[in-house]
Amino acid sequence: MKIIKTLATVLAVGAMALTSATAVFAQDKGQIGIAMPTQSSLRWISDGNELKAALEAKGYTVDLQFAEDDIPNQLAQIENMVTKGVKALVVASIDGTTLSAVLQQAADAGIKVVAYDRLIRESGNVDYYTTFDNFQVGVLQANSLVKGLNERFPDGKPWNVELFGGSPDDNNAFFFYDGAMSVLQPMIDAGDIVVKSGQQGMETVGTLRWDGAVAQARMDNILSANYSDGSTVQGVLAPYDGLSRGIISSLRGVGYGSADLPWPVITGQDAEAPSVKAIIAGEQYSTVYKDTRELAKVTADLVDTVVSGAMPEGLDTTTYDNGVKVVPSILLTPHDVDLANYQALVVDSGYIKPEDLQ
Ligand code: BGC
Repeated sequence: MKIIKTLATVLAVGAMALTSATAVFAQDKGQIGIAMPTQSSLRWISDGNELKAALEAKGYTVDLQFAEDDIPNQLAQIENMVTKGVKALVVASIDGTTLSAVLQQAADAGIKVVAYDRLIRESGNVDYYTTFDNFQVGVLQANSLVKGLNERFPDGKPWNVELFGGSPDDNNAFFFYDGAMSVLQPMIDAGDIVVKSGQQGMETVGTLRWDGAVAQARMDNILSANYSDGSTVQGVLAPYDGLSRGIISSLRGVGYGSADLPWPVITGQDAEAPSVKAIIAGEQYSTVYKDTRELAKVTADLVDTVVSGAMPEGLDTTTYDNGVKVVPSILLTPHDVDLANYQALVVDSGYIKPEDLQ
């Protein structure tokens, strides 16, 4: 009996070994390099993890690196991936214009390059781009700002609104700003919105590296230089939740968020849990939800198609010119999130766990 049992165990173990060996062999489709900008923002962590899991499920091994917003660091990580002979690179760049040389090396080695969420500019060696409709993100932010102004300050016209932009080395920042200004500029021209600081245009309102502390300091300056006369801010266009939180801290520091000085309408982007909490608390008015799980999925599908030697179909071939060529793109749909719909959009969909909002 004992011998039979032992034999059965040996056979079972052998069969398992055989199965896993077969599985490993069948799944060895090569390595994919993923270069993400930073772990300082929640969205890039989940982008990286979702993408890695999706590619591994398709049988690839993955080298996932985060560069902590350091340009030379990201460059070195990508160079290393090229040297290792990855089949494809998926890059969410810090400053896309700094990657031209390494992308040339990638092209020479036959490595396909997908710009992930952020377009890589000034290089002919960007094969595809997967992102959201970035102009629409700005439109959603501005529409929500105006909705909030009407709701919170119905008798307050003209409304005092201050403007913030994203990082000027990120192509997206211009799309967000231009989308928002397509709604706000006509209202400024009509006198319904006043930018008391006079600070407009990406060269003035941009926030290098999307840094919340930089936005906070700029808001401090705007408040002391323009609102020490008893006037108040009713709205702030903020393109990313991390900036919104810096702006909220600045406003809190001078007494906003009280009965006498209600919170202005503040926008955001990425539906980060701390900012959804701020929306529930009434501090932030809205954010833009971009389902990064979906972006990771379409990107993994695209990589698989391209690495397998097939031609992807149905791509947008008009919207994104990177200065050298129009990069075939997949554009997903962003969604506006506020107090009324956050539960349905970001909690019920599983994007944020209810306990992360406690
Ligand atoms: C992304 C945004 C993000 C920002 C800061 C942009 O390129 O599209 O989703 O808020 O970078 O990380």
